[in-house]
Amino acid sequence: MQVKVANKAGFCYGVKRAIDLALTQAKKDDGPVYTLGPLIHNPQVVQDLAQRGIQEINSLDHVQTGTVIIRSHGVGPDILKKAAEKNLKVLDATCPFVAKAQKYAREMAEEGLPVFILGDPGHPEVQGILGWTNGKGIVVESADEISRVEHPKVGVVAQTTQPLANYQRLVEALQEQGVQVDARNTICHATGERQRAALELAQEVDVVVVVGGKTSANTKKLAKLCEETGTPTYHIESAEELQQEWFRDCRKAGLTAGASTPDAIIEEVKRRMNELDQMTNGDETMNQAMEVKSPRTGELVKGVVVQ
Ligand code: SF4
Repeated sequence: MQVKVANKAGFCYGVKRAIDLALTQAKKDDGPVYTLGPLIHNPQVVQDLAQRGIQEINSLDHVQTGTVIIRSHGVGPDILKKAAEKNLKVLDATCPFVAKAQKYAREMAEEGLPVFILGDPGHPEVQGILGWTNGKGIVVESADEISRVEHPKVGVVAQTTQPLANYQRLVEALQEQGVQVDARNTICHATGERQRAALELAQEVDVVVVVGGKTSANTKKLAKLCEETGTPTYHIESAEELQQEWFRDCRKAGLTAGASTPDAIIEEVKRRMNELDQMTNGDETMNQAMEVKSPRTGELVKGVVVQ
């Protein structure tokens, strides 16, 4: 069985940057270090960070001293204000692409525009962007949710992981109402590239394994896209979850990973897939390798032909 890894898989720029910043901070002798929420949606990485003294917290309420790391999803200004009031150090690992969406949302709100934020209302990135609109933000998950807009001009930004088609539909739906739209496309290419690569892969293999946190939105989306091609797809977090029967009679298996999956986990899964292949299909592979044409009869025979 051949194991093919998608040509874009694993850590994106923003996640890698956040991890690097956190690891550099952990090496300093500079008091306790916290992350507000899990730094990334990957339990193994979060566990590793905890072993290095970086603790995950859900609010700043009980923190008195130390450094708080803002993760790549970013936060609203209320959190930064609270950290400043408590004299906490802030290490801002907000992905620059998310920071750009926050900046646009703030600028348009300051101009007095209602700001449509296309995204998942429960996602921390969206909540952070919303925080910068000073009450002028309207979160929608699709163009279907907009009703009659009374304002002559509106702003639009998107959660960085939104599909481009969703964003275009929202902008068009607003324009169709005769509203002037200041549309700022804040979608990040990393997500689209990973989704395209996963789709291509799913179409050429017998089975796809998607590695990444079970709560990671971008990993779940990759698994869903692969599943929709009809190719059997398995979403796992670690190599231990792989099952031998997934690869029975499989000639080519695909492997892709969400933006919060480290290379070491992708490599480990690939190694285990090859091991399982040996255990499941090993004999058959060997037989195929030994199938040769008899120079005497021209028939396919197993094993080495002695003339
Ligand atoms: Fe940044 Fe894009 Fe990665 Fe999100 S997916 S953290 S926006 S690089």
